[in-house]
Parts: sequence; structure tokens; C-alpha cells
Amino acid sequence: MVQGVTGSFQLMKSLNRSLVLNIIRQKGPISRTDVSKQAGLTPPTVSNIVLELLEEGMVREETGESNGGRKPILLSINYNNHFVIGIDVGTNQLRVGLTNLNAGIKEMISHKLPAGMKVDEFMKILISSIHEIFESTSADREKIIGIGIAMHGIVDEEKGESIYAPHFGFENLPLKDRLESEFGLPVKLENDARCAAISETWFGSAQREQNIVCINIGDGIGAGLIINGKVFRGRHHIAGELGHMIVDLSGRKCTCGSYGCLHTVASGIHIREKVIHEITLGRSTLIEQLVTDRGDIDGDVVHKAALQGDAFAISVFEEAGRFLGLACTNIINVMNPDKIILTGGVMKAGDFVMNPLQEFIRQRALTQEAKATSIVRSQLGSHSALLGAVSLVLQEVFEIEA
Ligand SMILES: [Zn+2]
Repeated sequence: MVQGVTGSFQLMKSLNRSLVLNIIRQKGPISRTDVSKQAGLTPPTVSNIVLELLEEGMVREETGESNGGRKPILLSINYNNHFVIGIDVGTNQLRVGLTNLNAGIKEMISHKLPAGMKVDEFMKILISSIHEIFESTSADREKIIGIGIAMHGIVDEEKGESIYAPHFGFENLPLKDRLESEFGLPVKLENDARCAAISETWFGSAQREQNIVCINIGDGIGAGLIINGKVFRGRHHIAGELGHMIVDLSGRKCTCGSYGCLHTVASGIHIREKVIHEITLGRSTLIEQLVTDRGDIDGDVVHKAALQGDAFAISVFEEAGRFLGLACTNIINVMNPDKIILTGGVMKAGDFVMNPLQEFIRQRALTQEAKATSIVRSQLGSHSALLGAVSLVLQEVFEIEA
């Protein structure tokens, strides 16, 4: 942590304090006695920590139902007294949100990121957007406890560096250092697909699972892996680069330089390029009637055409779905996860992608249990990476081992 990042947030990292907070978060409303039993701490230790948490407004008291005697005083998290800034750096859009400690979004702004921008231009947009959030909120500045960033590409989360952001062509950008010295707040950085996976474990459909894969299928494809309850990053931070899993030995060239990657057959960019290419070759489809300019064709338009029964639009999603099913089958055979969660723009096509995907798994996974692996669409919608960025900061507050 750089100089200048001080204050109460660091104190929050005390082990016992995180332990107590986490029990209150998961089990609250809960009495001090039950907290001390579950934490294995003495009642005076718990009382002291709780007193501190009450003074800071992290925790609040309420009166519980009586079981005959005096009504018990119960503790719960005061979710609306502190706030976190979450940032989702998309390929063409930057979104900055302010949330409470339970992912309730209080403020949200977004700015377009110009194609071909330089690092300095990006940093200017990023920093001014964060200032904008500070100015637009009525929350006290000292109540904002940290900034989390979800960034595409390869990220060194320990150093807080964007090692390689292929869509922007940025390398070794020390985002954490730059923002910590600008704002004096702790900054956490993580790959966007991993953020999406983390948000599922905090707020989404994987709150009880230990082994999950969350696949973001947008313009690019990436996956976040949670193994035994922990984010798995691999030796060089590239675990989960599912978009570059090779699914066709003699396939087309990919942006990464290889051939036949999943990205070349199932990403949002591929779907768009394929549709435009086929229309250029004279393919008859409703898609063309839904736009005034071919440049306006995107996943939403293809989805609209599919909903109206356009055979070509349906076949495009079907093909993408089969390849995604192939990728999921390979993941199931390698990792045998509890659940696979699908998110990102392409998944807005719903059953048009989901049905062929699940059909592939039913036909090709190894055992009956493998074929029955739970595959679900994320319920967090387009906010999942941003909420994951928020969770990076929450992990620091609540988790014993972040
Ligand atoms: Zn590739």
C-alpha cells in the first residue's frame, strides 16, 4: 500500500475484527453471545470489537424476539453507512458506481472510451469519472472505504497492475499506485471475468458453492475460476483465458495469433462479423431490415431477428451455443465444477444460445452427473463485473483471508 493510504480501513484488516464482521454478515441478526461462540473468542473480546464497530457505524443493534425472558439485543451489518466505488473498464465504455456494503447501487455514471485512446487519455477519463462520483454523491468522503476495478486482459492483482489489456494495447499500467496516490484510498484491481465470478459468490447464484466457473461472453470471452472457495489465477495470471481455448485445429486466425480459438467462433465480435459477412455475400435475413446501416448490427439486433423466427439469426446463435457447449464440456471434464454461470452480452440471446449449449453437454460430457452439471445464466445482469470490483474491497473488510 502506498504512502497516504491510511486510516480506519487498514484497521479493519485485523483478524478478529474480520472474523466478527463476517459472522455478523452471514448469521446476523445475531447476539454477542452467539458471535463469541461461533468465533471462538471470549465475550469481552467480542464486546470490545463490537463496541468499536458500533462507534464506526459498521454494525447496528436491534431488539430481537423474547423467548420468555428479556428481549435480546441482536447485531447486524449497517450496510448503508459505508460505501465502495466499483469500476468496470469495458472495451468501449467505462462505468463507475458507488454502492453500499451490500452492492446496492447509489450512484452510477458511464463514459464512452474512444477507440485507439492512449494511456494518458484513459487515465484522465478514469480519474475525472471518479471525481465525478465523489461530487455527485451526498455520502461523506470518509465513509467511502475503497475503490475496486474490473479490467479486461491480464492483471497482476497483487501489484495492482494491468499487465496487458489487449483491447487498448496497454502494458504494465500501475493502476493501483496511480489511483491510490490520486485519491488516498485503497485500490483493488482484478481481471473482469474473475470479478464477475467473485460477485456471483457474494451476491449471485454461487453463494453456497465452492467450485464454480463464471464465463463472460461479450465482445471477448473470459472465465473466472473459483476453486475450493478461492479465486484461481494460475502461475502467470492467465487461468480462465477461455476465449483462447482452441476448439478448432484448422480454424480461423485469432487476435492472439493462434488459430481456431473459442473467441473466433462464439464471441460477440465474431457473431457481428459473421452476420455482416454473410449479408455481404447475399444472405437473405430479417437482420438487414432491422437496421438502416450494416454498421449498426449488434447482438441485440440479431436477437430481435431470432425472436421473429429468422432462420439465419437462429443458426448464428446455435453455432455459438454449440461451441460454448464444447468449451463447457471440456471445463466440466477438467474441473468438475459445482456450477457454471454464464454472463455477458451474448447471453442476452437466452435460450437461442443456452439450448444448443446444454444439448452439447448432455450429449458429450463424461458421466450422468457431469451431463447434469448446473449451468445457469447470471442474475446480476450487466453489473456483474462492477459488483465484483466492489466485492474486492468488501473482501478486505469481511474476509479473514482475502
Ligand atoms: Zn486466441
